[in-house]
Amino acid sequence: MASATSLESLTFDNVWSRFPQDFFSRVTPTPWRDTRLLDISPAGAARLGLEVDDIDRDRLTALMSGERLLDGMEPLAQKYTGHQFGTYNPALGDGRGLLLGEAMTPQGPIDLHLKGAGQTPYSRFGDGRAVLRSSIREYLAGEAMTGLKIPTTQALAVAINGEKVMRERVEPGATLLRLAESHVRFGHFEWLYQQQRVEDLERLMRHVIDRHRSDLAQEEAPLEALFQDVVTRTAELVARWQAYGFVHAVMNTDNMSILGLTLDYGPYAFMDRFVSDLTPNHTDASGRYAFDQQPGVALWNLTVLGQSLTPLIEVARLREILDSYEPTLQAAYAILMRGRLGLETEQEIDGELIDEWLDLLERSRADFHRSFRALSDRDVVGGLSLAEEVDSPALGAWLERYHQRLACEHRGETERLAAMRRVNPLYVLRTHLAQQVIEAAEEGDTRPLATFRELLSSPFNRRPGMEIWAEAPAASAPPVCLSCSS
Ligand code: AMP
Ligand code: MG
Repeated sequence: MASATSLESLTFDNVWSRFPQDFFSRVTPTPWRDTRLLDISPAGAARLGLEVDDIDRDRLTALMSGERLLDGMEPLAQKYTGHQFGTYNPALGDGRGLLLGEAMTPQGPIDLHLKGAGQTPYSRFGDGRAVLRSSIREYLAGEAMTGLKIPTTQALAVAINGEKVMRERVEPGATLLRLAESHVRFGHFEWLYQQQRVEDLERLMRHVIDRHRSDLAQEEAPLEALFQDVVTRTAELVARWQAYGFVHAVMNTDNMSILGLTLDYGPYAFMDRFVSDLTPNHTDASGRYAFDQQPGVALWNLTVLGQSLTPLIEVARLREILDSYEPTLQAAYAILMRGRLGLETEQEIDGELIDEWLDLLERSRADFHRSFRALSDRDVVGGLSLAEEVDSPALGAWLERYHQRLACEHRGETERLAAMRRVNPLYVLRTHLAQQVIEAAEEGDTRPLATFRELLSSPFNRRPGMEIWAEAPAASAPPVCLSCSS
């Protein structure tokens, strides 16, 4: 497959449009008036084998306004269902986003999905539109996750539109051109299972294997191998969320990716100060999707997926595979957290040391990310200071245990601290910083958006003059409170 040299040289192979008719509805985007590009992501462009300079801005604007598709695109809304806050909803599907086409790139197929493209048969009461605030938040989230090496969908670009959209207030409308290896969700399988369409269920599993996990085709039982793959990747994904203080906040099964990608960013948050039961979505009153609930919720979601696969895989085998979730998550989390604390060897005391560190941060209301970074900045002149970040009389006792533990390490201090700085980010997608970027963009200033995007894409490297982008919110700032309505 030759690399593309421009948007117009991308080639599309729209497999989804060859699926049974009720898997989707053919819908063309409802054009927006006065669309303006706000930012293009170099990392997003790279996913398509392009550089930002290869991209004709007028052509991209016309695509994102819904006015002009690229040759070979066949836009459609995908049908799926899912469990929302624990209750099955049969009426879901792409309600405000369209799969425009599946681009064939040297790295494999990439879906181009236009979020905010207008109403579809699955819009229910919604207007099919997206607002600037949520679109910028999703755009930055793709950058931040990629920078942290957390699997995710990622947007190529974000655009503002001349039309307003009504939410809790009147807001500027926006579109996001989202990229993903696949948009197949747990909810796609639930939909087929509910109708007992066993052949189509198998067909969809085989599609995922053929297109995205071809190595599994050689296994003795490829369908079981695929379920195992989803369980493993989901466990590893959630381990990363937990290690980096990320709360997805709407872990409904229709928002769970079959490839283990972070999908559908809504009222998500990265922690500021460490709060173990943080629930940034103010409509989630019971805290179902709180930070510390995420590992359990992902298992619940995997169990729903497993239930949907019972016509194809024996229940005992499904159970066995589900049993691998927790140890996989624990092991992945331990590796990440040891890395963040600079521990190369594995010692029995590590779990305790990590828990005590988090407990210390929570009790002292310390900032999650700056505390890890301060621990790594010990030898950096002008770096963050641990005593300033973790203001607690209990810090000394913990440090004593930590230094005893470090005696088991073979690496020298300089090497260890440098390695810690490669996994402990300085620039984090904090809600208050995203809000400043959004407000500037609403006023027509896109420079903060480009700056923050750039910092988040390599969040470990300190850049002179960028201190404000590493700051925690003021202690007096109200707690994170976001809504699902986006
Ligand atoms: P979400 O919570 O963003 O994952 O959305 C849940 C469901 O509601 C999906 O089927 C969406 O497509 C749909 N939806 C959300 N917002 C809108 C909207 N403004 N217009 C139409 N459908 C929407
Ligand atoms: Mg969704």
